Amino acid sequence: MSAHIIAVANQKGGVGKTTTVVNLAASLVHKGKRVLVVDLDPQGNATTGSGINKGNISQGVYTVLLGETEVAECLQHSKHGGYDVLPANRALAGAEVELVQELAREMRLKNALAAVADNYDYILIDCPPTLTLLTINGLVAAEHIMVPMVCEYYALEGISDLVATLRKIRQAVNPKLDILGIVRTLYDARSLLAQQVDEQLEKYFPRKVFATTIPRNIRLAEAPSHGMPALAYDPKARGTLAYLDLADELLAWPGTRS
Ligand code: ATP
Ligand code: MG
Repeated sequence: MSAHIIAVANQKGGVGKTTTVVNLAASLVHKGKRVLVVDLDPQGNATTGSGINKGNISQGVYTVLLGETEVAECLQHSKHGGYDVLPANRALAGAEVELVQELAREMRLKNALAAVADNYDYILIDCPPTLTLLTINGLVAAEHIMVPMVCEYYALEGISDLVATLRKIRQAVNPKLDILGIVRTLYDARSLLAQQVDEQLEKYFPRKVFATTIPRNIRLAEAPSHGMPALAYDPKARGTLAYLDLADELLAWPGTRS
């Protein structure tokens, strides 16, 4: 069966998109799944966080989007994560400018991933925090969106931006795209604000909120500087265990069982 393709996206920055991609990928591998991480962010955080030196990369998602290389020839392997990576580096910012001139530019990633989709159970796409042609490529390639969010005052506004984007993408190119679920990150159950946001989420996104919450955990923040997911860096950390739980929940989630 072909991979489930999930874009991890939120137009708000710093909400744990990359942390979720890297740690969920490693957790799914731990559970016996074959996983590909696609780094669509010119910052290349998912690439470095997977232990891959982005300075050495001459081909990656950038050359794939421009049609210069196939996905298969650009793949790197995360030694500590156990998953493959289609890496990014700063050259990706240039891809956008060049892509604008080209035909079928929103479909590039989707078409390219089709060639490798049978080799994986899950493909996780790390989107940048902006709505650019890169993010659009991610949302067009995906069948689901997973939305990490921090339960703070403006969080729901960020999500409504994403819902508006989702509608447009559905109408224009990818009618089947849906919100798989919202993942609450940097979560503090004792915070009154978090409890209020939880109530609102329950009301506006029923059955779309993962029960697993990801706590604020220093190990999750430290692990990327060692080029590894938290599962390799500190297997017993609270953050590590939370992402393992999220993987279990995803494996049982309607529409993604495989
Ligand atoms: P961007 O929008 O810039 O791509 P992002 O949404 O990908 O950001 P991350 O890079 O995953 O967010 O996280 C932002 C910062 O918060 C990073 O320094 C990361 O290490 C830290 N962080 C993320 N999740 C947690 C957590 N649960 N506990 C502690 N630190 C975290
Ligand atoms: Mg990121």
